[in-house]
Formats: sequence, structure tokens, C-alpha cells
Amino acid sequence: MPELPEVEVTRRALAPYVEQQTVESVTVREARFRWPVPPQLPALVAGQTVDRLRRRGKYLLWEFAHGTLISHLGMSGTWRVWPRARAVPVPGTHDHIDIVFMETCVRLTDPRRFGALLWHDARLGDVKLHPLLAGLGIEPFDPRFDGEWLYRRTRNRAASIKQVLLAGDVVVGVGNIYASESLFRARINPKRSARRIGLVRCATLAQAVREVLSEAIAVGGSTLRDFVGAEGESGYFMLDARVYDRAGQPCRVCATPIVRVWQGQRATYYCSQCQSR
Ligand SMILES: [Zn+2]
Repeated sequence: MPELPEVEVTRRALAPYVEQQTVESVTVREARFRWPVPPQLPALVAGQTVDRLRRRGKYLLWEFAHGTLISHLGMSGTWRVWPRARAVPVPGTHDHIDIVFMETCVRLTDPRRFGALLWHDARLGDVKLHPLLAGLGIEPFDPRFDGEWLYRRTRNRAASIKQVLLAGDVVVGVGNIYASESLFRARINPKRSARRIGLVRCATLAQAVREVLSEAIAVGGSTLRDFVGAEGESGYFMLDARVYDRAGQPCRVCATPIVRVWQGQRATYYCSQCQSR
């Protein structure tokens, strides 16, 4: 499943091809995503120019003067850029959307169709008010996200710190893999109640979250060219995990076997020695 780093790398890959470019047409071959693609979408954006491509959490925001196209990769979505000077491939079964610009065709492929492509009209106000975005926590790279932020927003949270990170209302973009990895770096037990983690350890954790996500984005950065004129590869990637999916293997710090536990139906991996409290 694409996590924040994949979405950010997608944004960086697409931005040079779509920003300040005018949409010629949009082809919707399949509208049944998590929510249906609005039937009027092609007419709304044809002839309009993408000012900026931004990211909020795992949403890509295609900003036009008159509104914002909100897209989400769901479980299995990928965007690819095809230069129209070369032949754009005949769409396959899962190639559901084409956004066609003068020089490129930007194509959404999504076998499982849990993604989304929605329109927010500028007359309704800032896109931040959209129901999908309004409840999101702070961005992990926002300078305001630090130990104090994490500390203040977890004082009334009895749930485990792992589940609070995943919930996305304190900070966005820390999915299952990166929650386990961040907690390992911060040497915090994933089962510990969030409100029992002190200010100093909250600061360590905030820093660990940013490091883990930045490293993953850097790994993904090496795949940028795969977004243009390339078929096949999913474009998903992962940093070299220290605990995630390593149950039974020795901890890279202390050699204790990594443990897997279940928290809210999601697997959590940790080192009982390094993360004892
Ligand atoms: Zn260890």
C-alpha cells in the first residue's frame, strides 16, 4: 500500500510535467473508485491550467484557479507520465484515468480501485475544509511538529502510542511500516500508552518520525525516472527496515529476536530489549 513517502515521490515525479500545464482532456474509463469520479470532472478541468501539485497527508492536490482535484492512490494506485511525442500505450485493464496535457499523458492505474479522484470547487472555500482533509493531523515535516506538539496532543490519549501514530489526527503520514520503524529508533515500546510518554521521549519520537520518512523519500527519489515512460513496476519502495517484517530475526542493535504483536488488527514489530519501556 502506498504510504506518505510514495505519495511524496509521486508528487515530485509528476510536478515538472503538470505544473503550469493546461489540461487538454480527461478520459475516465472507469469511474467506480472508493467514491465515484464526478461525471462532470472532464468538463471542469479541460482547458484549465494546473497551478501547483501539492500533497496533504496521502492526498495529491492538483490546484487550479477554480478548484482542486483531490486524488488518492488507495491500496494500489500509481500515476505514470507518457510523453505524447512517443506513442502512449494502449490502455490496459487497470488504466482507468488519463489526464492529457499538450505534451504528456498522465495515467492513473489502480487494480483495486480503492483510490479517489474528486473535485473541490474553489467557491466552497479552501480545500483544507474538504471533509477528507479537515480532520487530518499536522504534516510530519511542518516545523510545528515537534516533541511539544506530540506531548500536548497525547496527554488525554490512553491508547498505545503505535495506534495514536496510525490514527493520523495528531500527525499524518505515519503508516504501519513507519510507525514501527520510528518507535524502534526512538526506543519506545509500541504498546505503551501515549499519554505516559514524557516530553523528552516525545521529542525523540518526533525526530525519529521525520528521519524515517525522509530516508524513505530519499530511497524513493532514486525511482523518479521510473515514473516517465515506464510500464510495469509499481513504484512502491521501502527503506531498509530495522524491525518491520523482521519477526524472529536478530535486532540490528542488540541481536534479540524481533517480536511481532497485533495491535488493532495491524502487525507491529519491535525489539523487546531496545524498546522495553
Ligand atoms: Zn534490540
